[in-house]
Amino acid sequence: MGLKVAKFGGSSLSDSFQFEKVKSIIESDPQRRFIVPSAPGRRFSEDNKVTDLLYLCKTHIEHNVPFDQVFQVICDRYISIAYNLKLKIELQPYFNEIKENMINGAAVDYIASRGEFLNGLLLSEYLGFEFIDAQDVIRFDRRGRFLEEETNHDLKKALLNHEKAVIPGFYGALPDGRIKTFSRGGSDITGALVAKAAEADVYENWTDVSGFLMADPRIVEDPKPIKVITYKELRELSYMGASVLHEDAVFPVRQVDIPINIKNTNEPDHPGTIIVSDANESHDEYVITGIAGKKGFTVIAIYKNRMNSEVGFIRRILSILEDYKISIEHIPSGIDTVSVVISNSNIENVIEDIIDEMNKKLQPDTIDVYSDMALIATVGSGMSRRRGVAARLFTALSEAGVNIRMIDQGSSEINIITGVENDDFEKAIQAIYNSFVNHL
Ligand code: ASP
Repeated sequence: MGLKVAKFGGSSLSDSFQFEKVKSIIESDPQRRFIVPSAPGRRFSEDNKVTDLLYLCKTHIEHNVPFDQVFQVICDRYISIAYNLKLKIELQPYFNEIKENMINGAAVDYIASRGEFLNGLLLSEYLGFEFIDAQDVIRFDRRGRFLEEETNHDLKKALLNHEKAVIPGFYGALPDGRIKTFSRGGSDITGALVAKAAEADVYENWTDVSGFLMADPRIVEDPKPIKVITYKELRELSYMGASVLHEDAVFPVRQVDIPINIKNTNEPDHPGTIIVSDANESHDEYVITGIAGKKGFTVIAIYKNRMNSEVGFIRRILSILEDYKISIEHIPSGIDTVSVVISNSNIENVIEDIIDEMNKKLQPDTIDVYSDMALIATVGSGMSRRRGVAARLFTALSEAGVNIRMIDQGSSEINIITGVENDDFEKAIQAIYNSFVNHL
């Protein structure tokens, strides 16, 4: 029989109603044997996530402000879930211990991790699954760096001893036993690690959306869902602003070729999106897989006649930017031109100084600066195998009256980046979508 690891995000476990949905999902498929929960998330838009409240407790303590009220709000979340689901667990001793540790100066990672820990205890009783504390199986070294091999070894051993188990997400432990968390959203990583150790057939990541959409629904009306996407395509799209999954969550399962299925707890019959290995590229229903983009970039375009015969020209550009500790997004180039694309937030206060320096050290013919640029990534592994994709993209943009300021096609050939003015951003995405998906 196959095996599935299912991670449920905070919104999937925010109250007892959501717990009921989760239980029925798990019980509908006996292959769902290892479950990774997040802490309770928001029940409605103005609500708080338990993890945020735990961090808030720590801030109160650091400023010597009483934290009892915030702590009680957290306790009440768990009490109401346990009460509504008629669980037998005695929560008070856990609350007392956590509170006492907080008063005695517990570290922020310990405090933040208790959200997942308590939710894991509730879920394991509710499902009748065993509880494996993540602090015994997810390992970090003395300096807080994640230990991949040790974790895989210990997790494997623990999972072998359990037919069905709940393993709370987000945290593990340092060699001395102190708790260490991943970065925010890190339960996704725990889920991937458990899937790898269990040699699962699939890593299900249950959330509150039915997978990825081909474009941002705030820009494109009713965009189509992405049924299948490769890890590489996902990386390109999430780099450009599309986000559902913690970036680090991809690596453990990618190494061992386990697909990730993004599913919606509130719409469990929807197939969601499957993320597959890069080798499996024959999935494309459309030429493109998705479109994503971000506003707020500056392009510095440097022109110099016979630039290509000057040894070290690009190195000098880069070293000027390096001196200002500026990271670069893209470097499209032509025969006598090089452009550097930089996020506005990185360069705002130093742009004048950098241009002065470039004029001095590079002696260019001209330097043009375009601020207020947006970048749009049109991603699809099917693009490299088809002719005329770029032509179609640029025709769509020009017919929509969008002025293209920059073009960059990555060497992976699964991504064409276009730079347009911020004001044209939405119009450009709609035009690309209409051309490739609606065939307008
Ligand atoms: N609860 C943690 C957070 O809010 C981890 C997670 O949900 O993945 O960041």
